[in-house]
Amino acid sequence: MKPRILEAARALKKAHHAVAVTGAGASVESGIPDFRSPNGIWETYPPDRYATIEAFLDDPDRVWQMWFDLGAMLGDVLPNPGHHALAELEAMGHLHAIITQNIDNLHQAAGNRRVIEYHGNARRMRCLDCDAGTALDLARHTGSAPHCVACGGIMKPDVVLFGEIIPELAMTESELLVRRCDFVLIVGTSATVYPAAGIPATAKQHGAFVVECNVEETDFTCSITDIFIQGKCGETLPLLAQAMREL
Ligand code: NAD
Ligand code: ZN
Repeated sequence: MKPRILEAARALKKAHHAVAVTGAGASVESGIPDFRSPNGIWETYPPDRYATIEAFLDDPDRVWQMWFDLGAMLGDVLPNPGHHALAELEAMGHLHAIITQNIDNLHQAAGNRRVIEYHGNARRMRCLDCDAGTALDLARHTGSAPHCVACGGIMKPDVVLFGEIIPELAMTESELLVRRCDFVLIVGTSATVYPAAGIPATAKQHGAFVVECNVEETDFTCSITDIFIQGKCGETLPLLAQAMREL
């Protein structure tokens, strides 16, 4: 067992209120690329034309094409060992909640019960006019923007596009959690998308111990991280869960 993982496990064992903050890296080993990599989604669908609220309002049919493509990919993916390890940590009573930037539903699929979706969920859509929400059934929507069955309005993927604000409930719940927590486990996030990137720093200001799992260092690593665990989280998180079982 790597000494840093043991050290992190000892700190987690002592914690009373631990929260994980996860990003795209948590799902890379499930086959979902992070968006910024050379073959990432932004290469095919530039964000200014496909991922802003202005682009959506300008041409919903165009933006939906990207979501149908993404949705088809998300439909097939499964949680990886990193997701399962986080679910095990929650089941063992060591992890209070996950605040995720991911929109892929994989933490819930792995069995985590308290998941705060900071950027929404790509498996749902919501009406721009009456706010009715519904599951996104890809089999029924293959061409243009879907319409609301209640009012006929245009449906939008239930995700936070650039230019939109974070859902109020997710924002409030996250703030309450980070003020209370004494341990933060950062997993696979580049610390570049705000306001999500500010969450671990707020927790640190309130006294939390910070463990970071990533394949490479980030802006967190030399600023707020207490223990950096380098490697794929599909490999390191199961080792952390194992250490928790054995301690
Ligand atoms: P990011 O793409 O900016 O950063 C990903 C981070 O994960 C990087 O620091 C990278 O080094 C790390 N990483 C890559 N593979 C890893 C692995 N196997 N183990 C551990 N770390 C690994 O992602 P972000 O910070 O989450 O920001 C991207 C935004 O785009 C998010 O806000 C999110 O809403 C959205 N997004 C979501 C998904 C998804 O739902 N799966 C995928 C891509 C992007
Ligand atoms: Zn409606």
